[in-house]
Amino acid sequence: MELTPLIDLRGIGVPVGGAERAEGPVAVEPLELAGQTYAYRPHEPDLRLDLVRALGAAWHLRLRGRVNVEGPCWVCLAAADVPVDVDATEIHEADTDDPDMRSSYVADGVLDVAGWARDAVAEALPARILCREDCAGICPRCGANLNDGPCGCGPPEPDPRWGPLADLARRMQQGGDG
Ligand SMILES: [Zn+2]
Ligand SMILES: [Zn+2]
Repeated sequence: MELTPLIDLRGIGVPVGGAERAEGPVAVEPLELAGQTYAYRPHEPDLRLDLVRALGAAWHLRLRGRVNVEGPCWVCLAAADVPVDVDATEIHEADTDDPDMRSSYVADGVLDVAGWARDAVAEALPARILCREDCAGICPRCGANLNDGPCGCGPPEPDPRWGPLADLARRMQQGGDG
């Protein structure tokens, strides 16, 4: 069946033990990370939802897909394009008070595929979004993007925040307490 942003689980006529699969592009809200907006490529991620009907009006749900996330590099702010593999599972049982058995993406029997997909992409992101793994960043003095080559400012000066530690190390080397 076709994958839609909302899927009414009550309308799926699958017997216990049976399965259904829904596939297709889904309009997913862009991600907001560190105050920046990250879009998807393709614009509507192609996702696959497997639904397995279990005992007691329960569903085992699995959402999979691969999408690229596009937005500024966290180090140099140039355009980054990061592939993300989504593989998320949820269990939902309609007739239970056990919160562990109720998916937060199901309300009144309707699965919020788009909302789940957005969270699943966010969880599958790498620790940092970079334009390339060894992004050289921006020169703190002239602001040049160091991925384009050295800027001519020369080696960085020692960070003044380390000054007190350097003093301490010197005193320890001298064997005294100052
Ligand atoms: Zn970068
Ligand atoms: Zn520079």
